[in-house]
Amino acid sequence: MNIEIVRSVSAELVSFDGSDKQICKAARVSTGKDTTEFDATRNRGLIRYLMLNKHGSPFEHGSMTFRVEAPIFVWREHMRHRIGFSYNEESGRYKKLEPRFYVPEMARTQSGKPGHYQISDDQDLTKLMVTHLRFNARDAYMRYEDMLNAGIAREVARMVLPVNLMSSAYVTCNPRSLMNFLELRMSEQAQTEIRNLAMIYAGVFEACFPETARAFFDSSFEGGAGRVAP
Ligand SMILES: Cc1cc2nc3c(=O)[nH]c(=O)nc-3n(C[C@H](O)[C@H](O)[C@H](O)COP(=O)(O)OP(=O)(O)OC[C@H]3O[C@@H](n4cnc5c(N)ncnc54)[C@H](O)[C@@H]3O)c2cc1C
Repeated sequence: MNIEIVRSVSAELVSFDGSDKQICKAARVSTGKDTTEFDATRNRGLIRYLMLNKHGSPFEHGSMTFRVEAPIFVWREHMRHRIGFSYNEESGRYKKLEPRFYVPEMARTQSGKPGHYQISDDQDLTKLMVTHLRFNARDAYMRYEDMLNAGIAREVARMVLPVNLMSSAYVTCNPRSLMNFLELRMSEQAQTEIRNLAMIYAGVFEACFPETARAFFDSSFEGGAGRVAP
């Protein structure tokens, strides 16, 4: 029985819509200046003003759609983000799930308070973790197939599969909802796997909405949210 071990989460941009300029136009409709052309400097200033003053709704104009592959435990965290996110995930009822399982490169230890994790360079610990995760994945998938072969429905047989099974989904968000996600999931407190996903999203965000992303990162990650220079 062959299973595939996956070492990372992945996300590719499927499509995006909108721009920094469109965000500015949406904001300027309040003063009737949305059809007036402004140069890049004025647009940058407006975006930073909006970010500073938490005038969030202009940042809802625009969208990014990703195709994401991540283990189920990451999806559980991801789907807590309800506002401004749309999801469509592969179904364990309508298709046979693939034998693809996430296994971290290195073990992690925990000490003290919840959320205090350290990547461990202890090779024995990593070996123990990998052995158990691999064995469990192979054993669980064998039981899954055994049930399917006996005629048990996919929706029931899947119950035996662990939360490190990989799953794929389309995720669509807007700049505002993505910024909330990034604020929470790029933090040191977030679990490594969803933080890695957030890093990928952040790179795409910077490419699609460069001024908005710059203002956001200045405000959120250099001295606290909302401290951007206008
Ligand atoms: C480090 C970390 C640890 C976590 N640990 C746990 C945990 O142990 N257990 C657990 O259950 N969850 C946990 N979570 C999930 C967390 O509580 C949030 O559900 C998740 O981060 C989504 O954030 P959000 O509500 O801001 O996002 P969204 O659902 O996208 O909401 C966006 C924003 O909309 C507003 N909003 C949305 N819904 C409401 C509402 N009903 N009422 C008022 N305002 C609303 C809020 O301003 C919110 O910030 C954790 C999250 C992080 C980052």
